[in-house]
Amino acid sequence: MKTYSIAIDGPAGAGKSTIAKALAKELGYHYVDTGAIYRTVAYFLDLWGVSPKDVDAVERYIDELTIQIAYDETGKQHMIMNGMDVTDDIRTQDISQKASLVSAHKVVRDVLLDMQRGVAQEHNVIMDGRDIGTVVLPNADVKIFLTASAEVRAKRRTDELLAKGQQADFAQTLKDIQQRDYQDTHRPIAPLKQAADAVLLDTSELDIPGVLAAMKKIIQEKIS
Ligand code: C5P
Repeated sequence: MKTYSIAIDGPAGAGKSTIAKALAKELGYHYVDTGAIYRTVAYFLDLWGVSPKDVDAVERYIDELTIQIAYDETGKQHMIMNGMDVTDDIRTQDISQKASLVSAHKVVRDVLLDMQRGVAQEHNVIMDGRDIGTVVLPNADVKIFLTASAEVRAKRRTDELLAKGQQADFAQTLKDIQQRDYQDTHRPIAPLKQAADAVLLDTSELDIPGVLAAMKKIIQEKIS
């Protein structure tokens, strides 16, 4: 049976996960947040005191890690690290940075590539990340590149962290986002970039219902 896939890429804070989650619910697709998988790798290495820049140590430790993706009854994606649910633990600024560093290593990307493709083979998916349209699912039925100015993204991220009761400072968040943008776009393997056949959507001036409407229009044009 043919499965359909929708690839959503873009920088941190562009609204990918909020939008992809809502669309997946509406369309009855599986939502796959691939950033969470990289975060889980970073969290695991951090627990073992491994520097995300130390490629030899990363290579040695990664074999000790098993990752499972599970969904609860509300459709929320849970990350299971060696049998432990770490879904909430991976959502910190520190792990965001470490995930960005760890995701640059070929050994990490290779391991996660099969996992991501495996989900898309079995289910209709909306998958979000940095390299979904370019590397993971180059034949995706729909590809959307979601972006927004760094300032708007930093404001969204700050509000999100504050709403969760975490500490967040706008200036620091902006710096973190700019650093991650730089790292993610400049790495040699699978850098963040718009696929040639992706539709670009800038969400700087749009609210969530506005982005959703624009995305639905793009999807309807590609998948009837
Ligand atoms: O999307 P999120 O902010 O959770 O991603 C965390 C980090 O994981 C990103 O900054 C990026 O370096 C990495 N990532 C990636 N490829 C993906 C998804 C995330 O390299 N497909």
